[in-house]
Formats: sequence, structure tokens, C-alpha cells
Amino acid sequence: MKKFGLFIDGGWTQPGQGATFQSFNPYTGKAWAELREASEAEVGCAAEAAAQAQPAWAATSGVDRAQILNRAADILAANADNMSVVESTDNGKIIRETRSQMLYAARLFRFFAGYADKLYGTTIPLDQPSILDYTIREPLGVVGLITAWNSPITLLCNKLPAALAAGNTVVIKPSEHASVSTLELCKLLDEAGMPAGVVNVVTGAGATGAAIVAHDKIAKVSFTGSADVGRKIAAAAGSLLKPMALELGGKSPNIIFDDANVEAATVGALAGIFGATGQTCVAGSRLLVQKGLYHEIVDRLSKRARIIRLGDPLDPASEMGTVANQTQFDRIMAAIALAKQDGAQLVAGGGRAQGAGLGNGLFVEPTIFAEARNDMELARSEIFGPVLAVIPFETEAEAVAIANDTEFGLASGIWTQDISRAMRLVPQMKSGVVWVNTYRMVTAQAPFGGVKQSGYGRERGEQGIYEFTTTKNVMIDYSGEIRDPFAIKI
Ligand code: NAD
Repeated sequence: MKKFGLFIDGGWTQPGQGATFQSFNPYTGKAWAELREASEAEVGCAAEAAAQAQPAWAATSGVDRAQILNRAADILAANADNMSVVESTDNGKIIRETRSQMLYAARLFRFFAGYADKLYGTTIPLDQPSILDYTIREPLGVVGLITAWNSPITLLCNKLPAALAAGNTVVIKPSEHASVSTLELCKLLDEAGMPAGVVNVVTGAGATGAAIVAHDKIAKVSFTGSADVGRKIAAAAGSLLKPMALELGGKSPNIIFDDANVEAATVGALAGIFGATGQTCVAGSRLLVQKGLYHEIVDRLSKRARIIRLGDPLDPASEMGTVANQTQFDRIMAAIALAKQDGAQLVAGGGRAQGAGLGNGLFVEPTIFAEARNDMELARSEIFGPVLAVIPFETEAEAVAIANDTEFGLASGIWTQDISRAMRLVPQMKSGVVWVNTYRMVTAQAPFGGVKQSGYGRERGEQGIYEFTTTKNVMIDYSGEIRDPFAIKI
């Protein structure tokens, strides 16, 4: 059993000293790591260490900060194999995906390293010509980064390199369901020469996260998780006037029109819901299909769903792994039972997957419900698992209405070969991301985030680094004039 302490001020606290909890491998069902449940006082130590380290880190030149971040990228990429084994063991995601996620995380380090020495301000011409006005982008200070379990390293690296490149120091709290890769990352950052106190990691459940939100040395919290917890912590942060970035859930519509490329749309729909076992915030969990293609798409999808190869997450041949934990498994099963009860037509899957090589792993069959209606619970709540609702529609206007009839607004997909239709629809989609003829495409350069109950703030892209800066405006009067407010000039 691996044992970890907390990573504070460049060192590890003694594992096992204080409250602990275990992390379970969802494939074997066995506990494989013992972690610390950080107390409020320990969160305080981490925040203090980060606050102590921050001025020197911010004063380090952008070039030097970039060098450390680039070194971290190299080391992470070189360790992609072992890091992906850790990730897949902890959350059941297939190794092909976790490996590419490690390389992508390295890419994010490089992308934001490039900004470390390019955080330009602006000069602003004023009405008074003898005043020089300019802006400076400054770091916020210490920021709290709280993440979910579905892709711990990717979710963290949407935030961490941006925060560091801008001169902030951080206190991180990974999900209690999958913390090990974040702890292992500390070792790699140490090897890259990250100064003590710049990156601190505390593990634990909600109370540890709440202590981060409440700590007065933490200037902002960037959170990835559920809308329910997002609302709770936004309320807590609101009472402290603490800014937040919230990357929350979704119930994203993926819309196939009659004029779509059928094969591309089928594969896009599959990737949208069964990629990452459906445990992705952008899961295209509502598939809207126009009447002319409806039966063909349902038929193709269900045939494909039945042959997806479920298996050991560590086996490179596996196409879908387990879901990440028992709570999540139970939630998915309850959602499937309810959809059956509500009269959605089950055309693929619908239960626990068992059989050779699956053992007692938390496997869920790739599940498709046809003839779903948008008012069914199946189409309203985020299931966060491999469960698809296929909803038929007739007109473009109807598709838009159904797509936007959700409390969420993270992503939308549009499959059409009619460019005019695509251009007409993009502005009508109430979501932070719109994909046309592709789905689940993420890049370091493009900003990502939601509207409505999917949250606010943006990660990645240029906006991603600005989330971790504040703008200072400077006015320098070089006229030599005395500007007496009571002297009336005529
Ligand atoms: P969750 O909200 O239960 O937990 C997220 C994190 O918040 C965990 O680290 C948890 O310990 C912590 N937390 C819980 N209560 C807290 C509190 N009171 N104060 C502070 N922290 C607290 O979410 P989850 O089950 O880990 O993740 C699944 C959710 O994350 C889904 O809704 C999914 O859509 C969302 N998600 C969003 C994105 C995105 O980028 N928009 C990406 C991945 C996952």
C-alpha cells in the first residue's frame, strides 16, 4: 500500500500522522493507497507556506519561471508511462487515455510557460496628454486549486501552470477519490526545481476544500467539480468577496442533422458519451437526431456500443474502463433504473458489465436509450457515466429549443455539412463551447468554460492565464502642474 503525507513547503509531512483515508482501485475493488485527511490547521500551514513563497516567486523573472515550467513539462512527459499507471489504477480510466492526458498536461505546462515572460500591460491615451496611464498584470497571490476525480492531472494542469506562470503560488486539493497522481506530480515538480512553498498539496474531502475556500491568505479559488458543490463554495466565497472560477458539470446536446456525414457523426456521438466512460464534464449525453437519420443513427450506435471492449484499465487493448468509484457506480445504476421506469426505450446496455476479465470491477455497459424526451430525468440531470439519451427532432428551431432547454451550458455539438446552417446555429447555442463536425476536442490554445449552471471563468488559452492575474492601473502625471481641486480654472 502506498502511503502519502501532505506536501507542504517543499517537504512531506509524516504519512499516517493524523486522520487518514484510503484510495480504492475501482478495477480490483482493493484499497491501494493511504492518504492524509488534512485538518483546517494543516490547510493553514499550506496557505502560510504559499504566502511566504509568493513574493520571491513573483519576483523571479518570467524567463526563469518559464524555464522551471518547461523543465516540469519535460519531466512529466518522460514520466507519462508511470504517471498514467497511477492515474488508471486510481480512477479506472483506460491507460491509452491517461497516457495521452499526461502528454497533454505537459503541453499545458509548455503553453503557459510561454506566457510567463509575456504578461504585457497596455498604455492608455487619456484626455490629459501629460499623464502617462498604463496597466500592469499582477499575480493574485496564493490561489486555491480544487479538482474532481475524473481526470485529476488534466484538470489540475488546466489551472496550475497558468497560475504559476503568472507568479502565483498554490494550495491544491485533489479529489479524495483520486489524489495519488497529484501527489506524485509534486515529486516531478520538485525535480524540475520548483522552489519550496510554491506548490503545496493537501488531501482530504469536502471539509479540507472548504478550509481552502475560507482561508484569508487564499486570494482566489479555481474549482472543478459538480454544480452542487460549486454553488456551495461560491456562496462561501461570496460572503468573503473572494473571486472564484467554477468549472462545473453539463448535460451537453450533440445534434445530428439529416445532412450530416453519418459515419463521422456516429463516431462523434460515440466518443462524446463513451469516451472516458462518460465521466467527462463535456459528455454529449443528449444526442438530438433529426427524423430522417434517426433510425439509422440509433441502429449504428447501438451496434457499435455493444462491441466496445471493456477491460482492465491498465490493458492498452481496453476501450472502456471502470467507473471511478462505488458512489458513482450506484448513481449511474439508479439513473438507468429511473430511465427505464420513465419509459425511455433501452436499445443497448442497461446494466453492470460482467464477464471474462472484468472481475468485480465497477464496469457499466455502454447504455443507450432511444425515444427519450427532454423532460425525462435522463435528459435533465448529469449522470456522469456511459448513458446516452437519444432525442428525435424535426426542425432546426426545435433542435435549438431542446438543446438550450437545460440548466447547464458547457458544450454543444453540431453535425451538418451545410455551412450556412452551422453558422446560423453557433450563436444560438447557450454554451461556452460549440463543436461543429467534431466533439470533445480540447487544445491548450482554445479557452474553455461554461455558462449558466456550468460555471464561470475560463481555462486554457490566453484567457486561462488572465484568470490568475489582476490588472493594476498606473497614472503618472509628468506635467509638473499642481492640480489643486479647489482652484477654478477659467
Ligand atoms: P464534487 O463537486 O463532488 O467534488 C469536486 C471537488 O470538490 C473534490 O475535490 C471535493 O473533495 C471538493 N469538495 C467537496 N465539497 C466541498 C466543499 N464544501 N468545499 C470545497 N471543496 C469541496 O465533484 P466530483 O464528483 O469530484 O466530480 C464530478 C463533477 O465534476 C461533475 O459534475 C463534472 O461535470 C465536473 N467536472 C467539470 C469539469 C469542467 O471542466 N467543467 C471537468 C471535470 C469534471
